[in-house]
Amino acid sequence: MPSPEVVVVGGGIAGLGVAWELAARGRRVVVLERDRLGRGTSWAAAGMLAPSAELGFEELDLYALGRESLARWRAFARRLEAASGAEVGYREEGTLVVADDRDSLHALRRLFRFQEEHGAPVEWLSGEEAVDLEPLLSPRLPGAVFSPEDHQVDHRAVVAALAVAARRAGAELREGTAVVHIGPDVEAPTVRLGDGTEVVARVVVLAAGAWSPSIGGLDPAPPVRGVKGQALALRLDPERGLDLGHVVRGPDAYLVPKADGRLIVGATSEEGVTDRRVTAGGVYRLLEGAVEIVPGVEEMELVETWAAHRPASRDHAPLLGRSPHPGVVYATGHYRHGVLLAPVTAEEVAAEVDRLLDGAAETAPVLAPFSPLRFPD
Ligand SMILES: Cc1cc2nc3c(=O)[nH]c(=O)nc-3n(C[C@H](O)[C@H](O)[C@H](O)COP(=O)(O)OP(=O)(O)OC[C@H]3O[C@@H](n4cnc5c(N)ncnc54)[C@H](O)[C@@H]3O)c2cc1C
Repeated sequence: MPSPEVVVVGGGIAGLGVAWELAARGRRVVVLERDRLGRGTSWAAAGMLAPSAELGFEELDLYALGRESLARWRAFARRLEAASGAEVGYREEGTLVVADDRDSLHALRRLFRFQEEHGAPVEWLSGEEAVDLEPLLSPRLPGAVFSPEDHQVDHRAVVAALAVAARRAGAELREGTAVVHIGPDVEAPTVRLGDGTEVVARVVVLAAGAWSPSIGGLDPAPPVRGVKGQALALRLDPERGLDLGHVVRGPDAYLVPKADGRLIVGATSEEGVTDRRVTAGGVYRLLEGAVEIVPGVEEMELVETWAAHRPASRDHAPLLGRSPHPGVVYATGHYRHGVLLAPVTAEEVAAEVDRLLDGAAETAPVLAPFSPLRFPD
């Protein structure tokens, strides 16, 4: 390939999505991934597309962005499947958010009111009605909210498909290629690789997830930290009646049934922990939270455990668009919502890079609240 117009640093769901969109727009793109494509935090997710899950009630801009991205998911999944020839497991059964005691019932009522106020088509269910919808739920649960619009996708299939689609569209994807330094420049920003060689582009997109601040050359560094999450997978067993038809979220764990027969149970949230160990305490708490809402979990086979770091910004919203560094665009800081936000990130950041390459100044209104320039330092 002749010298690239755009270098994307990081081949997770954010970087691959932006690379695919840019390549499809005819831009010469190279993705530099230090490890294997899609095997960072994006591999470790649960694949929920749930804008109001795990959201602070004050995070209204983020809620709106999540709903905007969710609204784009069906078309994005279809386009990605057509471009890659692979299925991405987009499922629209909806999500059940359940309470398991009086305190969590109170919190659930607040969530329900919040969702109703913002026009989400949610439905309040008694414990009995929830069990009618999802028979494996504990009959002791006092209430639930059904969110028919909160969906899910097979996130591992998505990153694999994005890599295929990006390559087919003409992007060059390099694995085992660590970027150690980014040199901002209005016309010719550079990235330096671990072996000392340099790649010059016209725009660099930083999409290195939780590792974004560890790359040299950006001062101030992007305000992103890693928040560790442990999760595990159980084996569903429909023949023994051990099956779930919906994503179920409880106060202490969520359960996400996948088409390949796994049931993902997640996730811990640990600040300031940099290792990727799966701990007995983490697994214990997740299983305890899962059994509380779906007792049949006790009988399921445990097939996989893992841990990864969510890339969290200071206000827990993503950093999308032009950064304080000339020629460098951010697509990072997606925290708990990187899968949900994949379509809006891919489409809007690619459009913004396109504008930058064309010398245009404008920023898309949808990205404005998420400008990396919103932090004073
Ligand atoms: C347990 C868990 C469950 C989750 N569940 C959900 C969910 O249900 N729904 C949802 O929307 N989100 C979920 N998330 C959050 C989601 O996984 C993240 O927001 C998303 O994966 C971030 O994507 P990314 O591309 O920014 O990061 P990554 O996938 O980590 O990609 C960054 C890439 O950059 C590479 N890289 C790093 N440094 C360099 C370098 N110097 N040079 C080159 N490459 C580099 C890494 O190797 C990595 O491949 C979950 C997260 C966790 C941990």
